[in-house]
Amino acid sequence: MNLENKVWDTIVVGGGPAGMTAAGRSAELGKTTLLLEKNNRLGEKLLITGGGRCNVTNNKLDFNLLVSSYKDKPKALYSLFSQFGAGDTLDFFNSRGMETKVEAEDRVFPVSDSAVSVWQVLQDYISNNNVEIMNNSSVISVQKNNDLFIINTNNGSFKSKSLILAVGGKSRPETGSTGDGFKWLEDLGHTIIDSSLALVPIAIKTEWIKSLPGLSFADVGLNVYSYGKKTLELEANSYLLTLE
Ligand SMILES: Cc1cc2nc3c(=O)[nH]c(=O)nc-3n(C[C@H](O)[C@H](O)[C@H](O)COP(=O)(O)OP(=O)(O)OC[C@H]3O[C@@H](n4cnc5c(N)ncnc54)[C@H](O)[C@@H]3O)c2cc1C
Repeated sequence: MNLENKVWDTIVVGGGPAGMTAAGRSAELGKTTLLLEKNNRLGEKLLITGGGRCNVTNNKLDFNLLVSSYKDKPKALYSLFSQFGAGDTLDFFNSRGMETKVEAEDRVFPVSDSAVSVWQVLQDYISNNNVEIMNNSSVISVQKNNDLFIINTNNGSFKSKSLILAVGGKSRPETGSTGDGFKWLEDLGHTIIDSSLALVPIAIKTEWIKSLPGLSFADVGLNVYSYGKKTLELEANSYLLTLE
């Protein structure tokens, strides 16, 4: 059947880890599921996480403890982690053959030290559950027409009963996350709160830094000088610096 004529139960836009997981779960529950991704492969950003090793979760299995590690403690986190916490994440990957290890600050990595292992589990999850994947499909706009969503892409228009937007934020736009979803959500009537930086790349010219890729430092402070004058000072309390 022509994919454009079909009414899908679920369309997922964005094939990062969130979209791959959501699409796999939707299909696992028996829903016909189409995953639209604008890159020519899924999970581009996932593959560069954790310096290519992917810090897959944290070993704080009690969700109250996990939430207490966040600076702001949005109420939504309690609900989210109580439904699917760090232990569930570990079970998900371990039960699919990906062994994990715990490093400093309870950070969990694949034993393989490679983000590809995480990517492969998610890729198998969606393939095994028969998700229809359309790479090279950039979504241009999203509309709601009565009970159906209409998703317009450079490859045609698709219809679904449910829509999951998982197009990521705005960091590292070269991986595909260009912030497209904010406008669509606003068009659909949602309130958008301003985004703020959580992970910031710092370009450092100093040569010796380049010989230490993969090292992480906890409790890092930061002084920024512009033409010899200090313009910013961040206290050494909760910043983590990773050299890549
Ligand atoms: C350098 C770096 C290191 C990181 N390290 C870690 C780590 O070790 N552990 C950790 O947990 N997190 C880490 N993160 C954060 C992590 O990468 C993100 O939280 C995660 O990728 C978010 O997943 P996502 O699926 O929501 O979005 P994304 O991974 O951003 O995926 C969104 C997808 O949507 C697609 N898309 C966007 N617009 C459209 C469109 N119009 N049409 C179709 N598709 C579209 C994009 O191409 C992309 O594939 C790191 C981030 C960076 C930048």
